[in-house]
Amino acid sequence: MNISKNLSLINTAIIETAQMHSKDPATIKLVAVSKRHQVTAITEAIDSGQTRFGENYIQEAAEKVSHFQDNIKFHFIGHIQSNKAKQAAELFDMIETVDRFKLAKALNKHLEKIDRKIDILIQVNIGNDPNKSGVLPEKAEELLQLIIPFKRLRPLGLMTIPPFETDNEKTRVHFRNLRLLGKRLADQQLFYNNDIFELSMGMSHDFKVAIEEGATIIRVGTAIFGARPDTIHKGAKTC
Ligand SMILES: *Cc1c(COP(=O)(O)O)cnc(C)c1O
Repeated sequence: MNISKNLSLINTAIIETAQMHSKDPATIKLVAVSKRHQVTAITEAIDSGQTRFGENYIQEAAEKVSHFQDNIKFHFIGHIQSNKAKQAAELFDMIETVDRFKLAKALNKHLEKIDRKIDILIQVNIGNDPNKSGVLPEKAEELLQLIIPFKRLRPLGLMTIPPFETDNEKTRVHFRNLRLLGKRLADQQLFYNNDIFELSMGMSHDFKVAIEEGATIIRVGTAIFGARPDTIHKGAKTC
């Protein structure tokens, strides 16, 4: 895998797609999803200028994060059980997958103890997919209302993993719906900064469509690091 070359191709695609649709490429953040890849892969990406990474297992992330300085940002993009909230509160710069009150409450409690604040996104199950986590779109407002009093959490916007579609145009509708929901919530002043709220959407195969529909954070794994090994253990086959 040529991580450096892949990153350069994706960064070029981000700039081109943004410019084609009159968006400022600087407003789009690339999260390199390094889950199940080795620390050496992250180091290689950092050497090519990448500073944000995404992980989806707390245990695996804890080991990895310890290798890097504070200028390298880690986003959590997996499902968090409430009993792992303490660890998550300590480890991550952003938690993209807050989808219920109990989790927000547990995070806030631990953040108070360690005197820390973090950025969060609300994960929305935009396609009403019974197999996916995330708050249902019609419940997002209520969840944000409940989270606002938690002063250790900065709700910056929304995140989604849309239902899998073979047709990118069907995915586009989900991305658009997330943006419209975000706009409605921002109009009600429910985010930390309602002038510029974040929309985390788009992965390796559909990040261009996501940018066209207003993504400010894209989460790209395979197109940077190649196919994921089944496990993180040393000696695991990586391609
Ligand atoms: C794994 C993962 C990604 C990256 O997917 P790729 O198809 O490898 O780019 C993005 N978002 C989430 C939530 C993930 O779990």
